[in-house]
Amino acid sequence: MASYLKQTPNAEGFFGEYGGAQLPPPLEPHFKEIREAYETISKSAEFIRDLRYIRKHFQGRPTPVSHLKNLSAQAGGAQIYAKREDLNHTGAHKLNHCMAEALLAKHMGKTKLMAETGAGQHGVALATAAAYFGMDCEIHMGEIDIEKEAPNVTRMKLLGADVVPVGFGGRSLKEAVDSAFQSYVPQADTALFAIGSVVGPHPFPMMVRDFQHIVGIEAREQFMDMTGQLPDMVAACVGGGSNAMGLFAGFIDDDVDLWGVEPMGTSSKLGEHAATITFGEDGDIHGFRTMVLTDENGEPAPVHTVASGLDYPGVGPEHAHLYRTGKANYTACDDKEALKAFYDLSRHEGIIPALESAHAVAFAMREAPKNPGKSILINLSGRGDKDIDYVTETFGFGEDL
Ligand SMILES: *Cc1c(COP(=O)(O)O)cnc(C)c1O
Repeated sequence: MASYLKQTPNAEGFFGEYGGAQLPPPLEPHFKEIREAYETISKSAEFIRDLRYIRKHFQGRPTPVSHLKNLSAQAGGAQIYAKREDLNHTGAHKLNHCMAEALLAKHMGKTKLMAETGAGQHGVALATAAAYFGMDCEIHMGEIDIEKEAPNVTRMKLLGADVVPVGFGGRSLKEAVDSAFQSYVPQADTALFAIGSVVGPHPFPMMVRDFQHIVGIEAREQFMDMTGQLPDMVAACVGGGSNAMGLFAGFIDDDVDLWGVEPMGTSSKLGEHAATITFGEDGDIHGFRTMVLTDENGEPAPVHTVASGLDYPGVGPEHAHLYRTGKANYTACDDKEALKAFYDLSRHEGIIPALESAHAVAFAMREAPKNPGKSILINLSGRGDKDIDYVTETFGFGEDL
C-alpha cells in the first residue's frame, strides 16, 4: 500500500480540493525554481546528510518524549505524554523547517532569507538559520506582536536580522504575511521566502510538512520504546498547522486518532477567536485554497487568541483536507483553558509551555477524564519563556483560574 504521504499532495500541490498555487505572474518562475529545487536537491544524499548533521549537532535532536505523570494524575483517566519540541534549539518546532529551508536556499545559491512572523518564533528560528549559514535575513512582524513578544524581537536583532514593523490593518500575522510577500517580489532572484508554516502556495505546505515529519518519526519510535504500543490519540495546536502536521505525519497510516486543537480565543463570536476549521468556510488566502474565516465582505476576518502564533484566519490546506475526509478531528480550546494549562504544566511538571502549545495541553486535560486506560501524545511545540512577562503581568500567577 502506497503511504498517504507519498500520494498527497498531487503534482499540482492539491490535498483533495485544497492547496494549489495562485501566484502573481512575476512569482511563477521563482516558485517553479523552488519546486524543482525541492524535488531534486532535498532528495539528494548530500542534502539529507547535511540536514541530519544539523539536526543532531546544532538543533539538539532527537528531542525526548516525556510522560506527564503528575498532570495525568491530576486530570484522572488517560496517560498524557508530550513530544518535547520546547527543547529544540530556539525553543520551538519551527527550527525544524527553517534549517531545512535555509539549507535548500544555500544549495539554490540564494543569499537572503525572508519571512513573516507572528509570535516571533518563526522570525527567531529563521534568523538563527540565516546566522548559521551566513545569509541575510528580513523579517516582517505586526506592531501588536512586536509589543507583545518583545524578547523575540531583541533575539532576532541580536541574530543579525532586519525586523520590519507592519502597521496597517490588524497589525498582526496576516498583515505581516502581506507585507513580507510584497517586499519579496522584487528580491526573488536572490532571496528565498521561507514560509513559517504549512501554508502558502505549493510547494510550501508539502515542503514544511516533510521537514517537520522528523517530529512524528521520532515521537512514534520513542513512544513505542516507552510503552510497547502506539498512542490512542495524538494532538497538537493548529495555527497554520506545521507542528500538528509534523506529528500527524508520523501516525497518518496508523490506527491512531489525530486531533488538531484550534484557538477559541475569548468566545465563538467572529473576531474573538481564530478557530478556522471549527467556524470557517472554503476560500482562498495568501495564494492557496483552504478554509478561511471571512467577514461580511468575504475578506479574511480579524482574529483573536492569547497565543500570537495561532493568530491566523486561514489554515494549512492539508488540515482542511484531513478534516473534510475525516482522517483527522478538530476542536478548539479557549484562552482561559489554555492559560489554566499554562499554569498547570508549569506547576505540576516543571515545564513552562508556549501559550500556543498550552492549547494542546488543555485539550489533553479535557479529554483525559473521558478516556481512562488510554494514552494521549501531545506535541509540546514550544517553551513559554517568551510569554511569561505578558502572562504574569496580565493574569498574575493563575490564582483566579
Ligand atoms: C508558531 C507556533 C505555533 C503555531 O504554528 P503551527 O504552524 O500551527 O505549528 C505553535 N506553537 C509554537 C510554540 C509556535 O511558535
